[in-house]
Amino acid sequence: MRISAIAHEAPTIDEVETDPDADAVAVDGGEDPARLEALAGRMNRIVIRFPTFKDGRGFSLAARLREHAGYEGELQAAGDILPDQARHLIRVGFDAAAPDELTPAWERAATRPVRVYQPTGVDARSAAAERAQAGRARKVASLNVLFKDASPEEVLRHALADKSLGRIAALSSFGVESAVLLHLIAEIDANAPVLFLETGRHFPQTLQYKDALIERLALTNVIDLAPTPAELARHDAGGDLWRRDPDKCCDIRKVRPLSEQLRGLDALITGRKRVHGAERAQLERFELVDGVIRVNPLAEWSYEEIEEHARLHELPQHPLREMGYLSVGCWTCTEPAKTRDDPRSGRWSGSEKTECGIHGKPPEPELETSLS
Ligand code: SF4
Repeated sequence: MRISAIAHEAPTIDEVETDPDADAVAVDGGEDPARLEALAGRMNRIVIRFPTFKDGRGFSLAARLREHAGYEGELQAAGDILPDQARHLIRVGFDAAAPDELTPAWERAATRPVRVYQPTGVDARSAAAERAQAGRARKVASLNVLFKDASPEEVLRHALADKSLGRIAALSSFGVESAVLLHLIAEIDANAPVLFLETGRHFPQTLQYKDALIERLALTNVIDLAPTPAELARHDAGGDLWRRDPDKCCDIRKVRPLSEQLRGLDALITGRKRVHGAERAQLERFELVDGVIRVNPLAEWSYEEIEEHARLHELPQHPLREMGYLSVGCWTCTEPAKTRDDPRSGRWSGSEKTECGIHGKPPEPELETSLS
């Protein structure tokens, strides 16, 4: 937490409500949360004043901004606050403080690690959550041993029919290779939730293909996940974020909507494969990403096996396939593949970017697990 002697100057909420260009506001802890949340999407800095250290309303207001409104800008606590309150300020989401009385104790308090024993809205993970994470890491290692030689159907049946992994959904881009995984899922449970990231930038052909596959496979639970209007207004009012900052664009259009959904899930099925190369070359059938088990039933399948399965079951082909698109994402960032050996070479062509970020980075294995 950053500590300063003087609180940031910022206009009042009355002033901000009539100034569409304002990006900072200062309020008292007793401010109406709904009124502040309505502005939060366009704020880069919010100062919450504490008239006395005994007044806890500023803590509640900060927690609501972080947890309910998804506010990500700077959040400064100012006024009559004490060094002993630093860890509580950090826990509810403050990342800056300007105490009336700046003592050396503040420096120590603001840099002390925060370890908590109850759920928290900020980065600090509770001790119980750390134990749960270690348990899931052991489970993933066990699953990779158990299902080492299993077929994709067996992996999916374990995940979907046996409900052994808890609350689960599949993620699909309804792209060139999607039909195979969706077909395997539909054979087991056509009502399984299938998440689709509706970025608002898809090719019309992808949306038509999505409708066609839903009908052909009788999928009954396809869920569109879209960015919030507040995020779009705040970061991409001009609609050109994909060109200016593609990582940020993927973040608000894909990563955040999916992360929000994953809060209610224990596991996610994906169609990623080792043959995609790059970060996927070492892909395991099961992995742990940000506390959620990722199930990759087709991790070891080749392109030939994918095509053979699609042919055998007469699955419809993505309309862009015959135009040379071997991997399809948003129309703004997708070109026909440069080479058949690298189907993803048409994605973010001309840049270093190879992934949108939704698959995160699996943690290093912490524990050795043996089933013998
Ligand atoms: S693929 Fe391109 S348009 Fe789509 S979310 Fe990412 S950067 Fe934005």
